Amino acid sequence: MNRKVIIIGAGVAGPILALQLKKIGFAAEIFESRSEDNTKEGAFLGLTPNGLNIFKEFVDLRLLKEDYTPGSMKFFNSKGKQIAELDTAYQKQQYGVETIQIKRANLNKYARIAAKDAGIKIWYDKKFVRYHEASEQVTAYFADGTTASADIMIGCDGMFSEVRNQLFPEVFAIQYTKLISTGGYAKIPELSKPLDSIRMTFGERGFFAYSVSNHGEVWWFNNYFREQQPKPHEIEKTLKTEIQDYLANVHKNDDPLFSKIIKNSHEIIAYPIYDVPRLSHWYKGRVCLIGDAAHGISPHIGQGASLALEDTVVIAELLKSHKDYGTAFQIFQSKRQPRVEKVIKSARKVGDTKTKTNPIAAWFRDRLIGFFIGKQIQQLDWIYGWTYSK
Ligand SMILES: Cc1cc2nc3c(=O)[nH]c(=O)nc-3n(C[C@H](O)[C@H](O)[C@H](O)COP(=O)(O)OP(=O)(O)OC[C@H]3O[C@@H](n4cnc5c(N)ncnc54)[C@H](O)[C@@H]3O)c2cc1C
Repeated sequence: MNRKVIIIGAGVAGPILALQLKKIGFAAEIFESRSEDNTKEGAFLGLTPNGLNIFKEFVDLRLLKEDYTPGSMKFFNSKGKQIAELDTAYQKQQYGVETIQIKRANLNKYARIAAKDAGIKIWYDKKFVRYHEASEQVTAYFADGTTASADIMIGCDGMFSEVRNQLFPEVFAIQYTKLISTGGYAKIPELSKPLDSIRMTFGERGFFAYSVSNHGEVWWFNNYFREQQPKPHEIEKTLKTEIQDYLANVHKNDDPLFSKIIKNSHEIIAYPIYDVPRLSHWYKGRVCLIGDAAHGISPHIGQGASLALEDTVVIAELLKSHKDYGTAFQIFQSKRQPRVEKVIKSARKVGDTKTKTNPIAAWFRDRLIGFFIGKQIQQLDWIYGWTYSK
């Protein structure tokens, strides 16, 4: 008889995990807290070769290119002079695919369509609240009063994981890092043609990055340093205007195009960045965490989605070769944690440089980043060239 698995969360990892587990004979069902028409995320993200090479087994990557910007980057100083270039041609040759930027909503959408097409049931409006283990089964309880039972449960419910809270109530809350990931979308007559790269400028008082999608839409991103964690009503009502005003001021002496993009954005993205405390265990009994729920990572080096996808490969391989799920979960953590922590450390390093507000430190930072980028292409093999090894 098929082993059954409950998957909590239909973000990036949930649907791809269900597909991986179906291949090895599990019957998977996914439970997502949001409703089906409320799964649109404003943000866009870079999906790098280590993630793309997993995703492409289930989703035709051409679909992701329906709305995208390239991952190549060109770096400019505040006078508009190009100082470095990070071209993804090397990635294509080395890993077969190259980084692209896509909207997170599309990544989720295609993952869900692939799962649905494979006959996997995704339940919406199912907010997981607690679980119980008995008689060789785990039962999940949802806010609407319904339940579901299976042999195992995998928490793919992201950074604010309720599965994690229920498993390890003693773990500290996630920490606000004083940085807000910002960005947006704009339509600007001067920038209506797709660009071949992301243009990253180290302006007088901060960096500004933008590209133009294949549909002629400007996608821009930036960071906003804010000492106080924004309250929910601020995020909802005032934060976006606060960010627009602040950034327009920061870039007032840079290329006037930047302020124009910021002011004319029809959508502004603002996500406070958090650190998830290191968990000593990612599993307990019949329940295991993967992706952001196990090891949330700041977006500074664009690896959260790709790490979550890597997790799906490893846990499925282990559940295939170990009938005892406890052993599979334990090996999963021991195989994944060192790599994930190394990537998190790199992301924190980049994040720390972004909180430097002292103009002299920022001046050196901006120039050093430009210098190092040229040297780094091959040094990123350890991240982008990941493959599963037994
Ligand atoms: C602004 C921003 C920029 C980013 N940029 C990048 C980038 O460039 N590159 C990159 O690789 N990563 C990036 N990331 C990170 C990336 O989005 C995450 O690491 C990735 O989505 C993790 O996948 P996941 O499946 O673990 O969690 P998620 O994709 O967050 O999915 C979690 C799902 O669980 C659902 N859920 C939550 N609670 C419950 C509950 N109680 N019951 C049921 N369902 C629940 C949620 O609604 C969601 O659908 C960025 C993140 C942000 C916020």
